[in-house]
Amino acid sequence: MTTAIEQTLETYGIENWGAGYFDVNRKGNLIVHPSENDSRAADLKEIIDDLARRGIGTPVLLRFPQLVASQVRKLQRAFSKSIREYEYQGTHMCVYPMKVNQQRAVVEEYLREGSRYDFGLEAGSKAELYAALALDQSSESLLVLNGFKDEEFIQLAFIGAKSGKRVVIVIEKLSELDHVLRIAETHEGDLPMIGMRVKLYSKGSGRWEKSGGEAAKFGLTTTEILETIRRLQEADRVDMLRLLHFHIGSQLTDIKRIKNAMKEAARVYAKVRLMKVPIELLDVGGGMAVDYDGSKTAFDSSANYTAQEFANDVIYTIMQVCDDENVPHPTIIQESGRFLAAYHAILVTNVVDEIETIVEDITPIEIDEDDPQVVVELGDLRETVSVKNYREYYHDALEHREEMFTMFNLGLISLEDRAKGEVLFWDVCERADKYAQQAKYVSEEFGELRRLLCAKYLTNFSVFRSVPDHWAIDQLFPIVPIHGLNKPPTEYATLCDITCDSDGIVDKFVDLHDVKQVLELHPIPKDEPYYLAFLLVGAYQEVMGNNHNLFGAPNEAHVHIDEGGYLIKKVIRGTSIGQAVERARYERSLLHDGFRRMVAQRVKRAELTEAEAAELIEFYESRFDAYTYLSVNGKPTRGKRGRD
Ligand SMILES: *Cc1c(COP(=O)(O)O)cnc(C)c1O
Repeated sequence: MTTAIEQTLETYGIENWGAGYFDVNRKGNLIVHPSENDSRAADLKEIIDDLARRGIGTPVLLRFPQLVASQVRKLQRAFSKSIREYEYQGTHMCVYPMKVNQQRAVVEEYLREGSRYDFGLEAGSKAELYAALALDQSSESLLVLNGFKDEEFIQLAFIGAKSGKRVVIVIEKLSELDHVLRIAETHEGDLPMIGMRVKLYSKGSGRWEKSGGEAAKFGLTTTEILETIRRLQEADRVDMLRLLHFHIGSQLTDIKRIKNAMKEAARVYAKVRLMKVPIELLDVGGGMAVDYDGSKTAFDSSANYTAQEFANDVIYTIMQVCDDENVPHPTIIQESGRFLAAYHAILVTNVVDEIETIVEDITPIEIDEDDPQVVVELGDLRETVSVKNYREYYHDALEHREEMFTMFNLGLISLEDRAKGEVLFWDVCERADKYAQQAKYVSEEFGELRRLLCAKYLTNFSVFRSVPDHWAIDQLFPIVPIHGLNKPPTEYATLCDITCDSDGIVDKFVDLHDVKQVLELHPIPKDEPYYLAFLLVGAYQEVMGNNHNLFGAPNEAHVHIDEGGYLIKKVIRGTSIGQAVERARYERSLLHDGFRRMVAQRVKRAELTEAEAAELIEFYESRFDAYTYLSVNGKPTRGKRGRD
């Protein structure tokens, strides 16, 4: 017999996408382990309650830096195992692409663990490079620079090399090479290395397929590669050229495509090497996918390979090509970001309420002979709908409803009649839905009806801020209640956020075989908050999230997991209302003066007393420090606090 907890584990697919980090404890709460097969665990409900006592309300982003370290180890182990098994002659190093999540807490944790294996950083802009230059890296690790570069960017790279980093400037366009050669003339001492980004013919798979192939935005064509080598030889700088780079996209879902790209890139590497270029680093880019839905398929939100399979294919394919061409095995550089960062962050927030969309009867409906014919007929349908006739009766109900609205628009029936008719219509739908779901095969039409009938849970967050990829590219994220998981969920719901945007919804959910249109949830408790976790949001979501409706960054807590449970190491308050409006250029003094002037006029006209005015001003100004999100259970979002 399966227990209720086993059942909810399966409903939400926790074991499929959780990578060994997430589970449910005996209390029915969602827990986080710092690594696979580690019995230490943090109880998310306890953390949220603890934060609430400290005045830190939801939404709150929980960061578990240990999960970044654990992913680093997983990747490193996979590669060192394949290198050993295939007797590959080179080594493997990572550079973390900062654009995935530039937060200092993430990058520092990555470096803390990664430095043991000489893992370095990848920067794609001047700002990222600026941050990277001051961070502690191991002396052998690399600092790889991708992206389009101007002279200033390249100068900063030279400064980095001179100050002791192993910098690689990856040439994306020929004009960058000219800058590099010019600046090299004026620099003494340690120079950066040069890499070439190649445009491969091979494409990736999934959402970012366009990042590869001949029409890709980035990379040098074959002629440009030869031209780069020629110019370097001409300038007697060919010794600077040390790396070959490609990146065919993020979230590469299909291992076959990855292998093909490796084959092509390894061949380019070998051919360049045979031109007496001292190239020794082959950078295979990022793109290792995260299995967000746990289906282990080539579906957009999944991946049909494990880290070990990925490592085996990369090592084996490159080795074969190099042996065939008789060139040394290169050091493999990998720029995986999503795979390292996705797991560590969880957004937890509360469901505020249910949004009524279908019409429920507030008072029981009674039908009498004075009612219009359509209402009487809808009433009959409601009484007699059954498992045998529900399909036909549902169609009849649709027709009657149509007729009813026509009559209403012609002024033939009253508002009361219309209200009665609507309630009866949705009653028929609910009953038909119940019968339809019992059938072996649920037709399209009744699938659609289920979506119409399901509850809409108003949830205290902004899709645009916290899971922007769900809005932008339909990416799926696992969503699970953090408590009550010892009781089976009995409701079906979609989620609405609190922005005033009809796109601010979540109506696609992870599923092993398909995409779920509705999520199994519990009824919203009356006297306590109902908390949901959005998981695997550590990659790309934070920095892509925006200020739509001036909802700011959520509160944040950094949590360490040890034998005793959890330890909250750091709390960072989310954006305040004041900070949010200042971002739109409303300075505090401008707003406060404006409000005071308005109130003063009312006082002057004797429409307010001095005392009332003072109270209004005090309340208005104190909201400057309040949270941009809804308060939980009517508590103010911030304690009264002095100005920062
Ligand atoms: C974005 C990017 C990456 C990271 O890709 P992931 O899918 O997050 O691993 C690596 N390299 C380059 C050049 C990128 O632009």
